Amino acid sequence: MARYDVVIIGGAIVGSSIAYYLREEGFSGSIALVERDPQFSHSATTLSCASIRQQFSIPENIRLSQFTLALFRRLEEEFGAGSDIGFREKGYLILAGENGLPILKQNHAIQEAEGADIVFEGPAALQKRFAWLSTDGIAAGAFGRTGEGWFDAHAMLMLFRKALRSRNVDFITAEVTAIDRDGNRATDVLLANGERLEAGMVVNAAGPNAGRVAALAGLSLPVEPRKRSVFVFEARDRFDDMPLLVDPSGVYVRPEGAMYITGGAESEDGEAAADPADFEPDWALFEEVIWPTLATRIPAFEAIKPGRAWAGHYDFNTLDQNAVIGPHPEVENFLFANGFSGHGLQQAPAVGKALAELIVHGGYRSVDCSAFGYGRVAEGRAFRELNVI
Ligand SMILES: Cc1cc2nc3c(=O)[nH]c(=O)nc-3n(C[C@H](O)[C@H](O)[C@H](O)COP(=O)(O)OP(=O)(O)OC[C@H]3O[C@@H](n4cnc5c(N)ncnc54)[C@H](O)[C@@H]3O)c2cc1C
Repeated sequence: MARYDVVIIGGAIVGSSIAYYLREEGFSGSIALVERDPQFSHSATTLSCASIRQQFSIPENIRLSQFTLALFRRLEEEFGAGSDIGFREKGYLILAGENGLPILKQNHAIQEAEGADIVFEGPAALQKRFAWLSTDGIAAGAFGRTGEGWFDAHAMLMLFRKALRSRNVDFITAEVTAIDRDGNRATDVLLANGERLEAGMVVNAAGPNAGRVAALAGLSLPVEPRKRSVFVFEARDRFDDMPLLVDPSGVYVRPEGAMYITGGAESEDGEAAADPADFEPDWALFEEVIWPTLATRIPAFEAIKPGRAWAGHYDFNTLDQNAVIGPHPEVENFLFANGFSGHGLQQAPAVGKALAELIVHGGYRSVDCSAFGYGRVAEGRAFRELNVI
């Protein structure tokens, strides 16, 4: 039986980032990174919209994004010459009607206090800034002048995975099917191929499957897969100044190369967990909600040509749509990095660094993630992020 000091379950962006920063922080023990889907064809990482923003409602989430943004600005220094993830720093534009105005204002004040470069504007100023926008029903908008935009998720994942090859990390292709415990210690990770890994520490980086992986160790985690569809379309007009626009309805749209992508029409009210095998885009959402919304908000999008679509699963934390980071209070050698609820790609580098610091130095140094600890789950105390896109 192989023995590892750390067994990380899930080798996409969160698991890879944790392994990477463990080595960067000087961890010299053995590390196994266990991944069942080495092409990442169903991971949230590669099915995401790959966008980064500063426009969160709580300072802790802004700080996680700021860490990642700083990494984006020195990619070559971190990962070597030629490292590129195609970061397009075009901003987010989050719009609010009268109902959403107080929250947009409150969020903006928090973002400003954190040093985020977000401008808050009324309809006239927005109309002047973005000629293609209809401000009908809009009370105000918050626009990220810098520090927000989108990038290539696969390229980002590959930077971390490639860096791990020279850092003595064992990549194991297998599904974890059981986790043994001896009282308050996780002891072994069992694989579908019958192998057993003895583990000094187990890290759950299983994305939308994290609730199930926690359950394998007899632990409860309120994270479940929620299906999110993304639609690609063509339009005659190119709006080079277009940020990632979020309509008050929740529908978002942004350029993607010569095309556009859109989504965000799912309602969370009474929404059930997705079937883990269901990756079928919900076309009715596009026809009935998204397209009409786009045509109202951006009149030039009345005449668009729908293209392909895909669906992925959010790693949805049903308690408060926020990450759960750090050890289980009783089973202390079982650590969580889960529940990002649609903003985990941009948080992964920061969370990897934070967890590595916790493991190696016994405490957070770069970004304090204590507020994301499991304690709140045990107490049923929500630490809510309001801006879930
Ligand atoms: C449509 C969509 C749009 C999104 N847009 C954004 C965005 O714009 N910005 C942003 O920051 N975030 C976004 N997200 C969220 C983001 O993609 C996730 O939060 C993030 O990728 C989570 O990374 P992860 O590594 O934890 O999970 P994943 O990428 O899902 O990786 C988990 C890995 O664990 C593996 N695994 C699971 N169970 C087991 C097991 N039992 N044994 C072995 N391996 C296992 C899986 O195969 C998977 O590869 C979006 C998500 C979706 C679905």
